[in-house]
Amino acid sequence: MSEGMPRSDRVLMGPGPSNLYPEVTEALQRPLVGHLDPDFLAVLDETCDRLRTVFSTANPLTLPISGTGSAGMEASFVNLVAPGDTVVVGVNGVFGERMCDVAARCGAEVVRVDERWGNPIDPERLLAAHPHPKLIAVVHAETSTGVRNEVEALGAGKGDALLVADCVTSLGGIPFATDGWGVDVAYSGTQKCLGVPPGLAPLTMSPGAVERRVERPQSWYLDLGMISQYTGSTSGGATRRYHHTAPVTMINALHAGLGAILEEGLAGAWARHEECGRLLQKGLQELGFELFAAEGHRLPQLTTVLIPDGLLPGGLDEAGARRLLLERYGIEVGGGLGEYAGRMWRIGCMGHTARPRNVTLLLGALGEILGR
Ligand SMILES: *Cc1c(COP(=O)(O)O)cnc(C)c1O
Repeated sequence: MSEGMPRSDRVLMGPGPSNLYPEVTEALQRPLVGHLDPDFLAVLDETCDRLRTVFSTANPLTLPISGTGSAGMEASFVNLVAPGDTVVVGVNGVFGERMCDVAARCGAEVVRVDERWGNPIDPERLLAAHPHPKLIAVVHAETSTGVRNEVEALGAGKGDALLVADCVTSLGGIPFATDGWGVDVAYSGTQKCLGVPPGLAPLTMSPGAVERRVERPQSWYLDLGMISQYTGSTSGGATRRYHHTAPVTMINALHAGLGAILEEGLAGAWARHEECGRLLQKGLQELGFELFAAEGHRLPQLTTVLIPDGLLPGGLDEAGARRLLLERYGIEVGGGLGEYAGRMWRIGCMGHTARPRNVTLLLGALGEILGR
């Protein structure tokens, strides 16, 4: 039907061409300016302000880290964890596992709280896992399973511990409130619900956490004390000091993506993701797919389904069906991770992609493939 469909036409996977807000595509084409140009520094300052709005925080230390979402994760741990510190980590998917690895490399005593993939982590179990941890860390939106973990209850019960939340797949897609929920450190990534290419990790840190940073982090590049002197995030821009060259084009793109979200209104962007997830999950069930994530904790922006035996037409396996979706309809759907490889699909509907028409397209394509 449409062999040779251009890659730029593909839709529906999280990080890809279709999830860029149009304002972002435009910003990416703007002529480059120098990283110390006053015009660029004004964009950088405004980007940090917009991040404060989207993170829902007054934290002065709010900035984009140069690097993908994982750089935000690494920056959080490397700036707060000294060897021997106790870190409680909730693990119900790939990204909770990654947090354990990163924390352990910082020398933390990691206390894992495991939950079956597909289920949310009970906040009470996390709070009870250790009497006085330095840090409690959880993934708000587990992209490997499509599950939303509770963050607010952790903020209420954390005591003296600092609370770290991974918001890579949640920021801009579902409600999140750094200050309102008592989160000390939150980080995200540009390529999920923010509708910007991969390459930056927005991060925010509470004044209380800033005070408890390790004096000399093991990473030079991710030392937030030095980075924030460059971005002016702790000094109101008064005394900027060069740290590393800002990725100017990416910051322009993030500035534009946040602008698009704020123009729509954060609540409007959440509602749009919510509607798409609801339509998609209902339609998939009607076609015979089984939703994987526990009811009440399903992410609208990342849907996971199991493919029951006998659902796909004879001769077509899971990978073949995904290939058909890509080649004939230009729709990219993610495969399962870990033990769910070959049995699960992960369907992103994030950023600009989260539009009902894209859901209709996917459900129509699947209907054709299944012969409905
Ligand atoms: C994508 C993702 C990451 C990692 O981000 P990268 O940009 O791939 O480094 C971390 N946590 C979660 C929940 C994610 O979805």
